[in-house]
Amino acid sequence: MWQIISILFFFALSAPAQAWNAAGHRLTAFIAWQQLSPPAQAAIREILSRHPDYEQWVKRAKSENGVDVFAEASTWPDAIRNDPRFYDEDKESPTPALPGLPDTARHKRWHYIDLNGSGKVMTGELDQQIERLSQLLRPSKQAPALGPQPRRLAARSTGNTAEISIALPWLAHLVADIHQPLHVGRHGDEGGNKVDIENPFNQRLPFSNLHVYWDDLPGPPWLRGRRLEKLATHLTETYPPPTQGTVVLWRDESHQLLTQVYPDTNGRPLPTINEAFQQRARDIANRRIVDAGYRLGRLLDGMFGERVSRETH
Ligand SMILES: [Zn+2]
Repeated sequence: MWQIISILFFFALSAPAQAWNAAGHRLTAFIAWQQLSPPAQAAIREILSRHPDYEQWVKRAKSENGVDVFAEASTWPDAIRNDPRFYDEDKESPTPALPGLPDTARHKRWHYIDLNGSGKVMTGELDQQIERLSQLLRPSKQAPALGPQPRRLAARSTGNTAEISIALPWLAHLVADIHQPLHVGRHGDEGGNKVDIENPFNQRLPFSNLHVYWDDLPGPPWLRGRRLEKLATHLTETYPPPTQGTVVLWRDESHQLLTQVYPDTNGRPLPTINEAFQQRARDIANRRIVDAGYRLGRLLDGMFGERVSRETH
């Protein structure tokens, strides 16, 4: 019980703009993994196994299965927010270098972009980082597209081993983030972080802010294993696969959803979640996680899989 209370307390205190909580990221990663061909899965497992925090992921996942480790790795960019080995480059001086990592910055600006009223990007690097990380992970044009084995670290276009081992968890993480509408949010309210809300559906945290509300919609942050698999399967059975589109499309879809993600006050002092809003919000969150999962899977399969076009039903 105390453990649960302390976990909740920890989450109530954690920094704003976390992104989908860990459940949202693990669900996205789980759905993505189902889209990968065996060679792509093997290549991803190999890259993740070279990451300095690989053992931590295995420990947290209580599993060495590729899908479980991949799901855990996708939460790593949020986990380093509270890890003293890393530093906030806007406020702190660099922490000592870590073997196997190109830097120890937390890169908080990678998680979001904020736009002004005319749709101009004011802060954040979410979309451009997805493009950059994809570029880093893509096979080089000179390298043969179909290697006999997925030992292709050397064949990646520009990245060295350390860059590649962090690029993969980051890419898996950010493709999920860009599908969270408030990560392509309004500059004036810091993507909903400055919007206090009342949420009678959450008895443990009835007063919160709008960003936290959306981040927590996918499920409890400790969701893993069989329950995660069950929920991911339910989501892919409920929502159809999306068109693949581009990073710009993913960003614009999220931005357009902003008109639907702010609750009314409903006569209360603060904007308040009611049943109709809660249902619609859950539906949007679930659909966006499915969209992100398929798209991430196809993107990674294009980088690490065999060069054949595969229908994803
Ligand atoms: Zn994030």
